[in-house]
Amino acid sequence: MFIADYHIHTNFSSDARSSMEDMILSAANKGLKEIAITDHVDFCEYYDEPDCENYIITFNALKEKYSNKINIILGIEIGLENTISDKIDKFSAAYPFDFVIGSSHGVCGLDLYFDDFFKGKTKSESYNIYFEQMLKNIKTIKNFNVYGHIDFISRYGIYDDNSLHYLDYKDIIDNILKLLIETERGIEINTSGYRYNIDQTYPQYEILKRYKDLGGEIITVGSDSHNTKDIADHFDVAYDMLERAGFKYITLFRKRKPEFVKLADYR
Ligand SMILES: [Zn+2]
Ligand SMILES: [Zn+2]
Repeated sequence: MFIADYHIHTNFSSDARSSMEDMILSAANKGLKEIAITDHVDFCEYYDEPDCENYIITFNALKEKYSNKINIILGIEIGLENTISDKIDKFSAAYPFDFVIGSSHGVCGLDLYFDDFFKGKTKSESYNIYFEQMLKNIKTIKNFNVYGHIDFISRYGIYDDNSLHYLDYKDIIDNILKLLIETERGIEINTSGYRYNIDQTYPQYEILKRYKDLGGEIITVGSDSHNTKDIADHFDVAYDMLERAGFKYITLFRKRKPEFVKLADYR
């Protein structure tokens, strides 16, 4: 049994089809105690913004309707770009989100989904730029709780071998993890890689373990599901990794404040 899926998209995101109600029902049927709805907001070229007023009205109605089945948390996943840090901080402060995921979906205005960012760069050049911009995002943007899928770039590279090895980027990744810890923010384990035949979580185990060894405690687990069947997908793997890395707690959020739930109660 798993406690919570903290990364769920509904058809308020342009790349998801299932309704919020269907996602909630599916999560309840899978026995989850809690989910965070985290639809996309991206302000750059790869623009995506839900109708926030309607998003919150729909959320509130469904939270009430299913309150005896499952607890639902109002979240959002914001695409971070340090060139628009003020805009991002103002946006997340303007709405009553319980939980905010900040993610790198684009770097320097280029969507990682397309090849332009990678063209003309070696793998090490593009991956280093990705992490340097991530560090700058964490320095300049205050209003988010966990950094989403932090080594996600390995899903998109255009190289013969896109794999990313922690030791090759150790210094910059360590700086990212240390700054998140110092500023009382965390990371997530995102299980979506298994759906893209990548057979790994984001982050990979080595980075998760390093985060723990550096003192990291704030950790959420999310499927990044865009349809009902993927909710809580591969959470058994994620929980095993947490235990192996030495985590005793999983994090939930209330009004953007972390609360810690014993992992052993869900093993
Ligand atoms: Zn994302
Ligand atoms: Zn997502």
